[in-house]
Amino acid sequence: MKTIGMIGGMSWESSLEYYRIINETVKARLGGLHSAKSLMFSFDFETIEQLQRAGNWAEATRLMVQAGRQLERGGADFVIICTNTMHKMAADVQAGINIPLLHIADATAAVIQARGLQKIGLLGTNFTMEEAFYKGRLTDTFGLEALVPERPQRQIVHDIIYDELCLGVTNTNSRSQYRQIMTALAAAGAEGIILGCTEIGLLVSQEDSPVPLFDTTVIHAETAAAYALEA
Ligand code: GLU
Repeated sequence: MKTIGMIGGMSWESSLEYYRIINETVKARLGGLHSAKSLMFSFDFETIEQLQRAGNWAEATRLMVQAGRQLERGGADFVIICTNTMHKMAADVQAGINIPLLHIADATAAVIQARGLQKIGLLGTNFTMEEAFYKGRLTDTFGLEALVPERPQRQIVHDIIYDELCLGVTNTNSRSQYRQIMTALAAAGAEGIILGCTEIGLLVSQEDSPVPLFDTTVIHAETAAAYALEA
């Protein structure tokens, strides 16, 4: 079994889910007392969020590459970044280490393609919904048509992530706002919706959406566990 290196803590609320799902997946496959071999570098998210807000991506990238190297030195066989947003510097992290990085958007797009869907809604932080590193990758690498909410709705989705979900807060009003936004994406033609932020699954579930949901946390964690078990 390979050792999984997790770059986490962004936020720790979702890293907890990764840890649980990865271990549950390995246990389901191997049975008995089996669990995953893993290491986690868990950031102080306050530091990361301030760098994001300041647009100091150079320093954020430096810290992410450093974390990847620490995991490699610690014995990780491959690395996952346990957040969609910080895949903004996935290429730099991969270039800075000598072990593979399993990209969250690639894992998610593979599941969507296997389901035969083409037009897909995308919810996440503004960085994820608006920038080429994520939305563009779905389109350019996988030929998916990614739909995002209108500007005011994108801001609602973004703010609920940072002001509530990353603080472990889930509230009913926010859930109904997400429901409305998902219903609008489906009405605009989305055949499915990517929960492209690793905390959104803490707020909504399949019953909140008229179309299939693709939770990046679950997909990424299950893909990492399966890869760890590959010969
Ligand atoms: N976990 C979130 C994501 O998947 C947001 C936190 C972050 O900015 O990394 O994008």
